[in-house]
Amino acid sequence: MQRRTLLKMAAVSAVGVTSTWANAKSNPAPSIRNTEHIKMNQVIIIGGSFAGLAAALQLGRARRDVIVLDTGLQRNRFAGRSHGVLGHDDKPPSAILAEARQQLARYPAIKFVNARADSISGNIDNFSVVTDDGETLSARRLILSYGVVDQMPDVKGFAESWGTSVIPCPYCDGFEVADQHWGLVWSGPQSMNQVRLFHDWTARLTVFGNGHDITPEIRTDLAGRQVPLVDGRITEIARQGSHGPTIKLDTGPDVAVDILFAHPRNKPSASLHDPLGLATVTTPTGIVLKTDERRETSMPGIYAAGDLANPGIPSVTTATWQGATAGISAQQSMLV
Ligand SMILES: Cc1cc2nc3c(=O)[nH]c(=O)nc-3n(C[C@H](O)[C@H](O)[C@H](O)COP(=O)(O)OP(=O)(O)OC[C@H]3O[C@@H](n4cnc5c(N)ncnc54)[C@H](O)[C@@H]3O)c2cc1C
Repeated sequence: MQRRTLLKMAAVSAVGVTSTWANAKSNPAPSIRNTEHIKMNQVIIIGGSFAGLAAALQLGRARRDVIVLDTGLQRNRFAGRSHGVLGHDDKPPSAILAEARQQLARYPAIKFVNARADSISGNIDNFSVVTDDGETLSARRLILSYGVVDQMPDVKGFAESWGTSVIPCPYCDGFEVADQHWGLVWSGPQSMNQVRLFHDWTARLTVFGNGHDITPEIRTDLAGRQVPLVDGRITEIARQGSHGPTIKLDTGPDVAVDILFAHPRNKPSASLHDPLGLATVTTPTGIVLKTDERRETSMPGIYAAGDLANPGIPSVTTATWQGATAGISAQQSMLV
């Protein structure tokens, strides 16, 4: 049976399940290319970690040719274990990704390329991506899943402690250090939500103001919760053997905690979206790409998933469902 016929059959059997999304936002009008022999890649995925691989899985199963470009620097590579992922709890993040890649290897439509995407151009049905090895690839749809990079503050010991004794997320690592003495670096009014959240894991919390102007109301609230507030700027995070971090300040004595939570600012891992003018959303720690419920960005034919397009709590699970949704949406947008 010819490939063209197979694609048509797949489209017919999938039409029923697309109707809801089609109503939510009409798909672009099919072009003549949809019924011709397909020479270009159907989809290029930029970023082949949790979101990108989840997108590739759906596309590969739908037999849509897909290229996954990846540079192998997933956000949680600093953490020894990943938590809260159903079926993969308490495994090294690299092991989860390696297993996923191994499973994806059985789909002939998926091609992995260890390369960095350096630029994007074109429009729906005819995008070009130039890689750092000078290759130009083309595709009808793009999925951006290149994540974000955490920007380490200029504090001695911070970067070295990131992912081990300085961590961002209680859902990721809180259970392992429950009931211990936690520290929280204040990063703005949203940090009060963390104070309330952390109470489910520990009653021993110290807040480090780190030079922020903390209002009298917040100070009263913290005092009422028996949460000490330490003023002064953090100058160093020191570690000794297996002990928790010691926080050194520009004023006052050192403070030792068992674990320190911090939320440094972050930015997209690449700026490929900038020249395209894709719409963004501002979050307390940076910006992310704006998408609709099908994960399509403000530019038709370009989808985004994972931390790059998640204004909420980032996680492997969220990245995975967003990636799967982007993959399915991209595939369904090409039905004839
Ligand atoms: C310290 C720490 C611990 C964490 N622990 C957990 C945990 O226990 N459980 C949990 O659920 N979540 C955890 N997270 C959150 C989790 O890491 C992210 O939510 C998740 O990695 C997002 O997946 P992603 O695919 O969107 O992006 P990423 O995993 O960051 O992957 C992006 C990929 O894109 C690639 N890339 C970047 N630029 C380019 C380019 N130009 N061309 C090609 N490829 C490119 C990168 O190399 C990378 O492989 C943790 C985060 C941190 C910082």
